[in-house]
Amino acid sequence: MREKLLKWKYKELGEQMIQTLKNKKHDAYLVDSKEDVVSTLKNIVPEKSSVAIGGSITLQETGVIDFLKNNDYKFFNRNDAKTEDEKREIFLKSFDVDFFFCSANAITKDGMIVQLDGNGTRVAPMIYGPKNVVMVVGMNKIVTDLQSADERIKEISPMNAKRLDTKTPCVRFGECIDCESRERICVHKTILQTGVRHPGRFKIILVTEDLGL
Ligand code: SF4
Repeated sequence: MREKLLKWKYKELGEQMIQTLKNKKHDAYLVDSKEDVVSTLKNIVPEKSSVAIGGSITLQETGVIDFLKNNDYKFFNRNDAKTEDEKREIFLKSFDVDFFFCSANAITKDGMIVQLDGNGTRVAPMIYGPKNVVMVVGMNKIVTDLQSADERIKEISPMNAKRLDTKTPCVRFGECIDCESRERICVHKTILQTGVRHPGRFKIILVTEDLGL
């Protein structure tokens, strides 16, 4: 029963969010399940496009990374890098791709997209460089306002730190203590207020499920 009601809520809210995001001059798509993400991408990303990704559990969960690997794309995959130099090379190439893929940490009900990044390799190409940015976002990321976005991000960041195996205090204690660690993952906070300067550059796929952290 709970699952059914949550699905209903996500669909209703999702439809409102699509309109809000379109008003912000983003392309926006609502899909019913994570299995629908790849079929939507097939209509958005032409074969032979150059592509790159930011770090994201959502992209793994929805099969996007496998889709990019196994089809006819020029994929600059950060996960293939074996050395720090290779990683840097791929990050720099990510600025000049046709499509950059990532998720969001939070989207407010009035359409602000909020991200918190460690070294900026996700938010920097999101802001400038790639011709298109594709965001795949579960409805669990939708929050009331910027304050709720901050609260959400503070709540999930220790889990992200654990996933990245950082030696930060939150990994020890399970909660954020606003550390000064060299490995701090909470450094670059960005708020994308609108897509008005480059209409349609952002293609946001909202999924009526919980995805990522
Ligand atoms: S600020 Fe530091 S302690 Fe807080 S979540 Fe980020 S890395 Fe962890």
